[in-house]
Amino acid sequence: MNNKWAYSYQEGDGKNKQLLGGKGANLCEITQIGLNVPPGFVISTDACLNYLAQPEHQLPEGVMAQTREQMAMLETATGKRFGSATDPLLVSVRSGSAMSMPGMMDTILNLGLNSQTLMGLIAHTRNERFGYDSYRRFIQLFGKVALGVPDELFDEQFDAVKKNVGAESDVGLQAADLKDISERFLAVVRHHTGRPFPEDPYEQLEIAIKAVFNSWSGKRAVDYRREFHITSDMANGTAVNVVTMVFGNMGNDCATGVGFTRNPATGENMLYGEYLTNAQGEDVVAGIRTPKPLQEMAQEMPSLYTQLLDLRNKLERHYCEIQDFEFTIEKGVLYCLQTRNGKMNASAMVRTSVEMAHEGLISEEQALLRVNPQHLEQMLYPRLDPKFKGTPLATGLPASPGAASGQVVFDADRAEALGKQGLKVILVREETKPEDIHGFFAAQGILTSRGGKTSHAAVVARGMGKPCVAGAEGIHVEVQLRKAFVGGTVIKEGDVITLDGTSGSIYLGAVPKVEADFSDELITLLGWADKAARLKVMANADTPNDAARALKYGAMGIGLCRTERMFNAAERLPIVIDMIVADTAEQRQAALDKLLPIQRADFKEVFKTMSPRPVTVRLLDPPIHEFLPSEQQLVDELEQLRHLRLSVQGMEVLVETAKLLAGSNGEPLPSSVHELGDTRLVDSVITRKEQILKKVRALREVNPMLGHRGVRLGITFPEIYTMQIRAVLEAAADCTKAGIPVSPEIMVPQVCTAEELKHVKKLVQSVHQQVEATFGVKVSYQFGSMMEVVRACMRAESLAAEAEFFSFGTNDLTQATFSFSREDAENKFLPMYNEREILQDNPFEVLDVKGVGRLMGLAVGWGRSTHPTLKVGICGEHGGHPASIRFCDEIGLNYVSCSGPRVPIARLAAAHAQILLGKEKAVTDKAV
Ligand code: ADP
Ligand code: MG
Ligand code: MG
Repeated sequence: MNNKWAYSYQEGDGKNKQLLGGKGANLCEITQIGLNVPPGFVISTDACLNYLAQPEHQLPEGVMAQTREQMAMLETATGKRFGSATDPLLVSVRSGSAMSMPGMMDTILNLGLNSQTLMGLIAHTRNERFGYDSYRRFIQLFGKVALGVPDELFDEQFDAVKKNVGAESDVGLQAADLKDISERFLAVVRHHTGRPFPEDPYEQLEIAIKAVFNSWSGKRAVDYRREFHITSDMANGTAVNVVTMVFGNMGNDCATGVGFTRNPATGENMLYGEYLTNAQGEDVVAGIRTPKPLQEMAQEMPSLYTQLLDLRNKLERHYCEIQDFEFTIEKGVLYCLQTRNGKMNASAMVRTSVEMAHEGLISEEQALLRVNPQHLEQMLYPRLDPKFKGTPLATGLPASPGAASGQVVFDADRAEALGKQGLKVILVREETKPEDIHGFFAAQGILTSRGGKTSHAAVVARGMGKPCVAGAEGIHVEVQLRKAFVGGTVIKEGDVITLDGTSGSIYLGAVPKVEADFSDELITLLGWADKAARLKVMANADTPNDAARALKYGAMGIGLCRTERMFNAAERLPIVIDMIVADTAEQRQAALDKLLPIQRADFKEVFKTMSPRPVTVRLLDPPIHEFLPSEQQLVDELEQLRHLRLSVQGMEVLVETAKLLAGSNGEPLPSSVHELGDTRLVDSVITRKEQILKKVRALREVNPMLGHRGVRLGITFPEIYTMQIRAVLEAAADCTKAGIPVSPEIMVPQVCTAEELKHVKKLVQSVHQQVEATFGVKVSYQFGSMMEVVRACMRAESLAAEAEFFSFGTNDLTQATFSFSREDAENKFLPMYNEREILQDNPFEVLDVKGVGRLMGLAVGWGRSTHPTLKVGICGEHGGHPASIRFCDEIGLNYVSCSGPRVPIARLAAAHAQILLGKEKAVTDKAV
């Protein structure tokens, strides 16, 4: 067999991380560009996989022979000999796979020391302290990693000696102490393994190589790969690096440290890192002494600091990416021992990418691709101060990102009342309902003890960009008592808590926060994104407030304005209920007449805010019973009222008596007692509730999501849609008259046949004529259809003949395509489907490209066959997810629409989609 297993740093391919591991490949690369790396070589990941595949774990043939050849080259390069009793070569044996897995696998330093080579090392360096320092380190690391001796056994001995001699840290130990420690360590190994410490250097080397290979399949590493989803495509096996030792522990003119070419916390363009003098290896990270900031080296070792800056510049110029590197200084010479791309938080990533593009190190396109769209989420919401280290009181599901603190309140009215006083509140409920909406507006954040990531609370909070922790089952909420219980802790109304909707944690008290960071660099980067992208990014925004915020995030219009949210406001709901319970068309019209000016004013605000961008208004969609209280609630309330009435009747007698008594004295009664005693008031409330209950019962549907809703309502109650259409067009006419350019779009929900569209279109046309005549201005608008019913997709060509645009409502379309009702699916069987890999993802979170996506693609094609300029978009939560956005680009949509705070993520994702599509096209073009 002539397999090649070992590659010297001079010959290894710096691009081949799969074969050589990240550490090995980069060490090859920087050796070859002339940086000062101690001579070394890599044994490949292939050797590792081969080794682990053998039943008895045997090194494949040739590995040790090639290792000896490579060692001979190290001997030539250094002029030292491995195992020499006069000037011994020592090496480190280090792990390193294609993906960085910090601290998961093992490294051994100072290998090659034994009782004889130690004497040689001491004689050659004339430094006894250094010799024993290296020896004790080697015995400990080798003992731990290769022989399985528990670290504590060594630490005990180390501390005992330190205590004996009264040393504070390792620097206080003399040669004799370190010698004592080495001897104790040898005894520990002998005692624990039942055998003496291996003396033969090549035996040591072979054992060490095997130990590193074994660490790949160790529990720690396996757990880590599972946790971080590192698959075998990404990294398979670890390589072994054998590197000539250089010594940072030879005295005070020696040091070891780690550096970042730029500050990884802020992105600032300045060398950042720490070092320790007279130290080795992991001392800096292990925290045995407090390391010094690298800038101090400018005074302490000025010429070396200059060398370090030079190393930094060369690394960055070569990789054009922030590097995280290790170095050691031995007697005035600087060596680089490792480099890799630096991990950074999102704002540092954005800043360094934009600055590197400005510096000409990378292109705008590269800068864009470097930032993961999803990571922007970190920057767009306030978050807990990373320095905060408290333990959460409880945890729930991270349902809407961001962090917020405030006083606990247990109902929406209270939230609104305190909010109006300018107080910060957190709304805490078992679960929330549409009628709690005013509480959402007033609250900083929402906490529920029941419900999932798609519960009402979660969906609404995400739409508003407010933090939400949902389904925190450890919390028991007692709304009546105005208290919540968590184990032994009681939270009363008014207590301050902090929510972290990004992690799902809940803390007592106000935890310090870092504000959202819409930096100049982010604005620049998103500007580049808009240039690169083809898709337009719109926002879902229901209120003038939402619209203003969406604009701040760079929305290019509103892709979905749900009119029902406007109906839910506290002062409007009674009018909406009047409209619903009306028995005659006249009664209904009276209620609608009251709603018209309210809706018109809302639309006007939204149009003005977004001018001249398009605003897509969706006509009423949900089944109307959703605006009414539930049957159970009404039944309970009526029962209470009837009780009340009885006691009021009792009161009435009292009042009559009081009247008689008072009358004899000739004094007037307080009017409130009059009112209280008046049963007519209670009667009228009872009558109204009975009327509503009757309506609720009449409207009851077996399957409301598939029932009387959307355009079906518009056709059975044309006066509702007419009012909404009028509100849109009159608002547009008003704006136009005032010189504000607007682009209203009217969108019909739940359409399944072209006839429905034609029907509503007629309404629109007739209202449009009237409005233009009344206002005396031209009003332009577009008319379009939601695509959320399978039949609509199948009939896309005939629908397209009636519409200027389509908008895929992928939440409903997913339900319809799978015949799953979302809540039932997510609560009952989807988790198991995912676990058993019957379905890869939750199709309500990740667009099902193969099924729902295919239907969309077909519908786009069919629609454009009759209407080539048909505009097509997507609204619904998928519209904000990078993978779905990529797909929308591929099937030729014109825009995506998502919640306001996700707009920046979508803008970047849209740019990625175009750039990557372009790259793929370039590859296929070449292949053709
Ligand atoms: P990790 O992947 O855990 O960082 P490394 O293999 O990089 O493990 O090594 C651990 C420590 O030992 C690092 O600080 C590294 O710089 C140091 N080190 C490794 N090899 C040598 C060597 N040949 N000479 C001096 N220090 C070394
Ligand atoms: Mg390292
Ligand atoms: Mg829908």
